[in-house]
Amino acid sequence: DELISQIAAGEVVERPASVVRELVDNALDAGATQITLRLQAGGVRLISVEDNGCGILCNELPHALKRHATSKIASLSDLESVGTMGFRGEALAAICSIAEVSLLTRVDTPDEPHGWLLDGRSGELQPTARAPGTTVEVRELFFATPARRKFLKTDATELAHCIEAVRRHALARPDVGFAIWHDGKLVAQWRAVAGHGIEALRQRLADVLGEDFVEQAVVVDWPVDAPTDTEGQPQRLRVWGFAGVPDAARSRADWQFAYVNGRYVRDKVITHAARSAYEDVLHGHRQPVYALFVSLDPSRVDVNVHPTKIEVRFRDSREVHQGVHHAVEAALAKPRS
Ligand code: ADP
Ligand code: MG
Repeated sequence: DELISQIAAGEVVERPASVVRELVDNALDAGATQITLRLQAGGVRLISVEDNGCGILCNELPHALKRHATSKIASLSDLESVGTMGFRGEALAAICSIAEVSLLTRVDTPDEPHGWLLDGRSGELQPTARAPGTTVEVRELFFATPARRKFLKTDATELAHCIEAVRRHALARPDVGFAIWHDGKLVAQWRAVAGHGIEALRQRLADVLGEDFVEQAVVVDWPVDAPTDTEGQPQRLRVWGFAGVPDAARSRADWQFAYVNGRYVRDKVITHAARSAYEDVLHGHRQPVYALFVSLDPSRVDVNVHPTKIEVRFRDSREVHQGVHHAVEAALAKPRS
């Protein structure tokens, strides 16, 4: 089972940033409103993710680290409409097989006066002081697989990837505060933003990508209410967010953030649709930069096609392509105020 977990880990964990992504996913699933990351040596020595979420019950703690133990879906039909970031129950088990993991947690109930500390290696459980929430600590990543450790880049590069992973979450969740510490220094802090939707996103974007980005960006807001799709099913697709038209000097190729039902994705359909809209309106004079949120009925998208869930498969990719293209095209073509 250790071997199976290590093989699974190879698919899920490529570098410290992969661990960061999984742990922040879990914190968000737990309903956290404040998430603090502490990293050492680019995350290789230590990744600690502290949240103020729901915590884990003492008797469920050992299960959290077991393979395919998830508290998030109970049946196959849940998979159709999965609303949490996690659902495979693989991440913590995989991370445990390639690093030293400890879990410190406390549920927010009056009859639970203290927290619990679980040592992943020994399985030892002991009471400790803790405010409600969870801290997961991952030390010495890839200690048992030196070959993988050799593929890691410098601390600065690994740190940049970790920050990028949190950035992706942060844009999707302006209502959650994030702080990132590296080797004892605060390297990023994005305060929770009140409210929802386009205004909350505008503030979070200004915080994360800079005022510059927001000043030159246009609002994308596209409700498409075609009565039926190609199979005669009722449909509804919404595309919203910001598309940027920075001058070439300030354009950033990595500022293409796409989300499907709140989940960050790398998707060829969306990328191509956005790019072609930029081509049509700006004739290729601008590099596409955007934060785009695509929402559609969960049954119309499969998120379980890739171990890291970064890729998705649409039931009708033409529908999504058209929606994103029209949305971005309309936004870019609008006269600037
Ligand atoms: P998944 O997220 O797919 O369920 P994971 O391996 O990432 O699987 O996590 C296993 C389980 O551990 C989760 O289903 C959840 O019950 C629990 N868990 C992990 N992290 C946290 C957290 N930060 N707060 C509360 N529960 C957590
Ligand atoms: Mg998870």
